[in-house]
Amino acid sequence: MDLRRKLVAGNWKMNGSLASLAELSAIAEAARQAGGVDVAICPPFTLIAAAMTRSGGLIIGGQDCHWAQSGAHTGGVSAAMLKEAGARLVIVGHSECRAERGEGDPVVRGKAEAALAQGLQAIVCVGESDAERRAGDQLVVVVRQLENSLPDDWKEGELIVAYEPIWAIGTGKVATVADVAEMHAEIRAFLVSRYGERGTRIRILYGGSVKADNAAELFACPDVDGALVGGASLTAEQFVPIVRAAAAG
Ligand code: PEP
Repeated sequence: MDLRRKLVAGNWKMNGSLASLAELSAIAEAARQAGGVDVAICPPFTLIAAAMTRSGGLIIGGQDCHWAQSGAHTGGVSAAMLKEAGARLVIVGHSECRAERGEGDPVVRGKAEAALAQGLQAIVCVGESDAERRAGDQLVVVVRQLENSLPDDWKEGELIVAYEPIWAIGTGKVATVADVAEMHAEIRAFLVSRYGERGTRIRILYGGSVKADNAAELFACPDVDGALVGGASLTAEQFVPIVRAAAAG
């Protein structure tokens, strides 16, 4: 199997209800028809078990997990709990979690390690702020996040990186293809320097206002192995064209 076949992962954030799961069947059908692409939906925790009953072959994932396996962590959800609910994947280090909960790189790394220990795929998010990009520091910032957020040990196919410039998330602003290509090349170089040849097979997703009308050019970029999609993943109408673009790219 091609370990770098494209992955399109939808992050529903704090949106959706049981009724929203009706979107899954159209997304699953489109993914089946398109073929050759992995498609994941990460609904809120409370919907994961119900989503599993209607997944139609889609990967169902969590949006976060705790670094600990169990214990006195009120409000926490462990990787084992996600797995038991049916999740196969989890997003860690999303910029909204980093910002709202003050999560630093060591916490993100702990979460990634906890997810991988349960056999979940871990999407580790990195990305610079608007001020950091305007200062020209984006490459340094992202490499530092990678250095400190990524685990040492992982099985092939289970570690995934998502480059999500913070200023592009939910804003409608998309990084230029040239900027995405530059950053993904930098991330790839880092992965190879850290993990050797195995680093060539880690998927690198782009996230930040991916929509039907910009997906194809992003997927055509070297080292863009898929997308992490927020707003446009909430309905099949908006998400399916992105899935099709990934299958075509
Ligand atoms: C995200 O939250 O990961 C994201 C990329 O959001 P959006 O697609 O809405 O910018």
